[in-house]
Amino acid sequence: MSTPVIGVLALQGDVREHLVALAAADAVARPVRRPEELAEIDGLVIPGGESTTISKLAVLFGVMEPLRARVRDGMPVYGTCAGLIMLADKILDPRSGQETIGGIDMIVRRNAFGRQNESFEASVDVKGVPGDPVEGVFIRAPWVESVGAETEVLAEHEGHIVAVRQGNALATSFHPELTGDHRLHALFVEMVHASRAADSL
Ligand code: GLN
Repeated sequence: MSTPVIGVLALQGDVREHLVALAAADAVARPVRRPEELAEIDGLVIPGGESTTISKLAVLFGVMEPLRARVRDGMPVYGTCAGLIMLADKILDPRSGQETIGGIDMIVRRNAFGRQNESFEASVDVKGVPGDPVEGVFIRAPWVESVGAETEVLAEHEGHIVAVRQGNALATSFHPELTGDHRLHALFVEMVHASRAADSL
């Protein structure tokens, strides 16, 4: 099958790093900000950044509803940090006016690991990622407070859930796009391949 085209939601955040990581994981990667561009991709990454800003810009650019529709339809999505927050069905402590795309039955707590200057790195064992643990970069990171029955927990750090998957939606509290280790992007590209194969049956 042809190389999948994977978008990176380019409203705010570390878009460039994800484009590089996706290309290294054998996908065609492109920034996406308009509804028409959403129609042309096989999967989407939602980067780290500031979830309140991403939420407001998504509404302003008219892309929030189209995003929800594609995620409901089963388009594979991968959110890191602020992107994880965007994929949560519920935020415990939203800023006023903050909305999410949703797609993963979970409740998240923003800035749960502390402030910017309490950012840290830690080894994280992620289910589905073979080999050594992943080096997790946590920057004002959220954690997942609780998950629904359909959501699989892929990793925990100090007893807190930091990676999850529900169907075609994957999310991590940390930023694999910053480490040069592309195994999580490779896992996501695999999900996109599997989804395209299932669609073409
Ligand atoms: N704390 C940020 C938020 O609430 C997320 C930080 C990040 O993406 N590195 O959106």
